Amino acid sequence: MGKAAGATGQWGAVSDQTRNSNIAALESRIAALEQFLGEREKLVEAYRASSVQYRMLVEQASDVIATIDPVGRFLSLNPAGLEMLGYSREEASSLSLDDVIHSAGDEKTELEWEDLRAGKTVIQELQLVCKDGATVWVEMSAKQMSRDRYQIIVRDLTERRRLEDQLRHSQKMEAMGLLAGGMAHDFNNLLTVVTGYCASLLEEMKDEDSHYKAVVEMERASHRAVSLIRQLLAFSRRQVLQPQLVHLNRVIEDMLGMLSSLVGEGVQLEQELHPELGLVRADPGQIEQLILNLVVNARDAMNGQGCLTLTTREIELDEEQAERRGASAPGRYVQLCVVDTGCGMDEETRERVFEPFFTTKETGKGTGLGLSIVYGIVGQSDGHVRVRSAPEIGTTFEICLPYVQAAGPEPSRHAPTREQSRRGTETILLVEDEEMVRRLTATLIEKQGYRVLTAGDGVEALHVAASYEGPIHLLLTDVVMPKMGGPELVEHLTPVRTEMKVMYFSGYAADTVTQQRVVDPDAVLVAKPFQPKALTRKIRELLDEGNE
Ligand code: ADP
Ligand code: MG
Repeated sequence: MGKAAGATGQWGAVSDQTRNSNIAALESRIAALEQFLGEREKLVEAYRASSVQYRMLVEQASDVIATIDPVGRFLSLNPAGLEMLGYSREEASSLSLDDVIHSAGDEKTELEWEDLRAGKTVIQELQLVCKDGATVWVEMSAKQMSRDRYQIIVRDLTERRRLEDQLRHSQKMEAMGLLAGGMAHDFNNLLTVVTGYCASLLEEMKDEDSHYKAVVEMERASHRAVSLIRQLLAFSRRQVLQPQLVHLNRVIEDMLGMLSSLVGEGVQLEQELHPELGLVRADPGQIEQLILNLVVNARDAMNGQGCLTLTTREIELDEEQAERRGASAPGRYVQLCVVDTGCGMDEETRERVFEPFFTTKETGKGTGLGLSIVYGIVGQSDGHVRVRSAPEIGTTFEICLPYVQAAGPEPSRHAPTREQSRRGTETILLVEDEEMVRRLTATLIEKQGYRVLTAGDGVEALHVAASYEGPIHLLLTDVVMPKMGGPELVEHLTPVRTEMKVMYFSGYAADTVTQQRVVDPDAVLVAKPFQPKALTRKIRELLDEGNE
């Protein structure tokens, strides 16, 4: 006090200068204080903004974010968590983690507390159970935040699991296709030989010949084998394709007569065909087979009574829809639905319908190949197929193929060709890698009077052609061969052999190079195994074309 009193006592003695400097010091202190307060205000404001931001981060996150106490009780749960589990905020406040972790079977699933308490970040895949009893697969990551607080982040795995399943399924189908296709390819060549010699034997035999009946039976059996193999090849995508612009409505309209007699009188056959349907690129023969397979299945499912509807329309798929359906890309698609009111199927059946040899029909009735072929065909044309079904109600198969362009006016149909004489004297270059098939084919055409040059692949064929001086009227070639395939051979040979016509065997591909398996849509193609008569007739027709 004394000092202060002294100071006060000296007040009057303080010079103006001192007083002024005191005031200045005071003012600068005040300014500093004001600045400090201003900055504090800003800091508080920034803190408030950032905590709002963090809150929003948590509130609006699509992942579930929660905090729990050391016994698992929820301290907080964000809206995504409330929504996933189906609880209100009040209900959640009395919940603990144990209430929402689903334990399948006897074993109890729990959070790995020990690791968590040791300070580790724990990541677990487990199932949560919602208020309504539904379960969700999630990935949960948990971490200690403070002594009595743990943070939990949960991510929904449903979509990821679905994609994984989809991938697994398509890999399985691919593997089955490879297996089946490899076998079918070799089998097909063997059958070509068997059916070929059968036919040529029958041609020489008389009806009363003692072996005639036996050979007829052999031929019949081998034809049945051929049609089975065809189906397998279609499934494994090993067919040689002749893709063209196809108008689904026209294909359906052309088949209607046959389809309605196929389904029988008790089944009402209806169509709702979109009048301005766009074109798709596909092999028309394959599309017919696809429709036929679906209709036969629908007939079997309806047991003589019901309604079968074929519909066509155009749809537009966005990125997400395309992905969900397993489509190759978003965009415009032409859709064909085959809807029946038959017995339908349960979930287990529905998941397996596209597998080759999967059938629920009794032995001898079903082969289990119909839908696997549909699957293969659709895949070959860059499309996708879906099935919806309910037991006792019915089934819908939905096929989508990429839209290519708008349809033009109705194309004119080919006039039927008249039966021609099958013999000839021209020169044919026959190129086929399978020796047995080559020998058989050469024998067949030589018998008709033609001169035949042979080669085992494209490269050899080029040599043969180079060293042959006369004209080559026709090149008859397999599509896929080692060293050089048919299309490539044609590319090399036609410029130097301008007189030469070209005909392909629709040999089935042993490899998986799609490029090699597609031939020009205008090319003449003969399916292997071929009927000897059909082959020689086609050869004659082609040679006569333009000479009439
Ligand atoms: P298959 O007809 O020889 O049995 P598919 O591959 O054509 O072989 O069909 C496989 C199975 O799918 C059938 O056995 C049947 O159980 C089921 N299925 C196919 N289409 C239908 C349908 N329209 N309605 C009910 N079930 C069907
Ligand atoms: Mg079937």
